[in-house]
Amino acid sequence: MDKVLQSRLEELSAQQLRRKLTEVGSPQGPEIEIEGRKYSNFSSNDYLGLAAHPRVREGARRAIEEFGAGSGASRLICGDLAPARRLERKLAEHLEAQAALVFSSGYAAALGVIPALVGPEDTLILDKLCHASIIDAAKQSGAALRVYPHGNVEPLAEHLDWASARSGQTLVVTESIFSMDGDRAPLRAIVELKERRPFWLMVDEAHAIGVLGQAGRGLANELGLAARIEIRLGTLGKALGSAGGFALGSGTLIEWLINRARSFIYSTGPTPSACGAAEAAIDVLRETPEPQRRLWENIRALEEAADLKCESAIVPVVVGDEAATLEAAASLREAGYWVPAIRYPTVARGKARLRVSLSAAHSAQAVAALAGELKRIRELVAP
Ligand SMILES: *Cc1c(COP(=O)(O)O)cnc(C)c1O
Repeated sequence: MDKVLQSRLEELSAQQLRRKLTEVGSPQGPEIEIEGRKYSNFSSNDYLGLAAHPRVREGARRAIEEFGAGSGASRLICGDLAPARRLERKLAEHLEAQAALVFSSGYAAALGVIPALVGPEDTLILDKLCHASIIDAAKQSGAALRVYPHGNVEPLAEHLDWASARSGQTLVVTESIFSMDGDRAPLRAIVELKERRPFWLMVDEAHAIGVLGQAGRGLANELGLAARIEIRLGTLGKALGSAGGFALGSGTLIEWLINRARSFIYSTGPTPSACGAAEAAIDVLRETPEPQRRLWENIRALEEAADLKCESAIVPVVVGDEAATLEAAASLREAGYWVPAIRYPTVARGKARLRVSLSAAHSAQAVAALAGELKRIRELVAP
């Protein structure tokens, strides 16, 4: 087997698509230590700097002391520990949903929710740039699949017309902030399409919760649309500084997911520490606007200094060519900046990019210095 795999790996190397892990020897923060060297870290999804926040650490510690390290079993067997329940109540209350259900990851949430809602007789319509978790879930569901060009509601409306001729339900899925482009979905226009053709709408708010909306309630809440969206997905692993995922919706939806979402039923419940940490992170969001305000100060500062347009904490610098992107990332690394090169299959071939993620924990100086580096890089890779 190894011989076959080795030659496949070499093929990836030849296409500049081989990936490798890098061991990090420090907590998540504006600086990370890798192989003994300190880097200014612009790669983490820890947008509010909560992953290593004292309150969040304390939330994890308290949950461990009270409930131990492990969850013991699937939540339907005996793993439905109080920290998960408490977290669900807090998520539902803070994010203004009737109910919430916590999964072991955001990936598991998507994989559980979509096939629980649609099957071969139904239609699933996705934005072209939806995250891999949504694509994988779509395939697993067996639903008839239609994909519309990124952010473009007219072709989406045409797919809805097509779907209306079929029997079964129609589910439309979009992210609110897109993970590799950092831009916003036209959420209001999508919701308005419901007046023409009814459908179920699921919005993945992985990169919006904590970042957008009052007290980090996400884009749907910021636009006052949450009540018109049947399912919202989120992760505990980004702005909430922990690990795990969740779905928000009606009590009936959550009841159905408990009965039908396979990644929920057949997987150990999230650990007490992960739940305790996320609960503390929500407490921080509720008590102080400071991390979110600092994050947006940094976003606006980078926008101005590097002459970029930013709609979220994710700032793509599209280079195009895979090898040139790797070179750009290496050059930044040389200068002490950790910024990931994102390549196929995470983005389309020839759309490789540097993906800068900003955090509330970055100092103004660090952001200004990065802006200077990005200008240098853009001159370097310009055709
Ligand atoms: C990160 C991400 C997920 C997966 O969340 P995890 O908790 O990391 O598994 C799902 N959807 C989107 C859009 C993401 O960016």
